[in-house]
Amino acid sequence: MVSEEQERFRSTAAVGLALVCLGLGAPFAVVHLIEGEYLIAAGGLACTAVLCAHAILLRRRSANARWTLLLMTPLGVSFLVYLLHAYAFMGLLWSFPGILGFYCLLPERVAWAVNATMLALLLWVGQKVLTLDVLLRAGSTLLAVNLFAALLLRSVTAQFQILQRRIVTDPLTGLLNRYDLEPALDARLPSRRRADGAAALLALDIDHFKRVNDECGHAVGDEILRRLGAVLRDSIRVHDDAFRLGGEEFLVVLHDVDARIALERAGALRSTLCQTLSLPDRRITVSIGVATVSREDSWSSWMSRADDALYSAKAQGRDRVGKGRHTIVHAAPEVHEEGVVAV
Ligand code: GH3
Ligand code: MG
Ligand code: MG
Repeated sequence: MVSEEQERFRSTAAVGLALVCLGLGAPFAVVHLIEGEYLIAAGGLACTAVLCAHAILLRRRSANARWTLLLMTPLGVSFLVYLLHAYAFMGLLWSFPGILGFYCLLPERVAWAVNATMLALLLWVGQKVLTLDVLLRAGSTLLAVNLFAALLLRSVTAQFQILQRRIVTDPLTGLLNRYDLEPALDARLPSRRRADGAAALLALDIDHFKRVNDECGHAVGDEILRRLGAVLRDSIRVHDDAFRLGGEEFLVVLHDVDARIALERAGALRSTLCQTLSLPDRRITVSIGVATVSREDSWSSWMSRADDALYSAKAQGRDRVGKGRHTIVHAAPEVHEEGVVAV
C-alpha cells in the first residue's frame, strides 16, 4: 500500500519541481524560442507543462496523475539526452536536477531503472559529443549523484517504514493498535466491496483482569497481555487483522467467514487462550463478542454490535462467546456449543 505520507511527499516534490522548472528552466526555453531554436524550446516548455499538470493532478489526488507521470518519464529522459546531443557539456548540466527529480517523483525501483537507463544513454551520446577527459568526469559525477541520491532515498524510505510500523504497532503485544482500525474495518464493509464478502469481528476482553493485576502484580498482567498477543498473532490467517484497542481489550477482524465459522473460531480461541494464559494457581479466561458484518453497517455500527455481544457474554457469567444481533447462524446446530450465548 502506498501510504498517505508517501503520496503527500510526492505531491510536495512535484509542486517544488514544477516551480523550479517554471522559474529556472522555462526562461531558457523562451530564449531558445526567440532565437528560433524551436525543438529545444518545445522540449523545455513541454516538460514544464507536463510537470505542472502532474503537480496539479497530484494536489487534487486525481488518479490521472499516473498518465502525466507516464508521459513525463520518456519525455524528460529524451529531452535531457537531446540537450547533451545539442549543447554538449552545457546541455549535460540539466541532467543533474533531472536525476534528483526522477528519484523524487517515481517509485524507488522505477527511479533506479529510469536513471540507470538515462545514464547509459547519456554516456552513449556523450562519447560522441564530449572529449574523453570531459566524458570521464561527467560520467563519474553523474554516477556519484545517482548513487548518492539512491542511497539517501533508500535510507529515508527504510527509516520511514520502520517509523510507520512503530506507529501502528502496540509495543507490549506486537499487535496493531487503533491507528489503522477505522480504514481496516471500512475496507471490509460490503458497501465498499464489489463482492459481497462476509466478515466478522471478535471483540475480546480478559475477564477480571484488574483482580489479576491487583493480586499477582502488574508485571504478571503484562506477561499475560504479551502471551495473548502471541496467541492472536499465531492463530489469525495472513489476511486477518488483530488489534489491541487498549488495556485488556482486543479486536480480531476475520475475513471471508460466515457466522458459523466465526463462532467456531471464537470458541477455539477462547479455549486456547484459557490454556495459554492461565497461571499455575489461577485460571485466566476471556470473553468474546462476535458480530458478522451486514449490508447496512458502518464500521462503527459493526464494532458496536461486537461490543454489545461482548457485554452480553460478560453479563451472562464471562468465559464465553456472545453472539451479536444479525449474527445469524444458518443450519449447523452444533455451533450452539457450550459457552456460546446469543444476545
Ligand atoms: P471485566 O471482566 O468486566 O472485563 O473486568 P476487568 O477487571 O478485566 O476490567 P476493568 O476494566 O475493570 O479493568 C481492566 C484492567 O486492565 C485495569 C488495568 O489495571 C488493567 N490494564 C490495562 N492496561 C494494562 C497494561 O498495559 N498492563 C497491565 N498489567 N494491566 C493493564
Ligand atoms: Mg476485562
Ligand atoms: Mg475491559
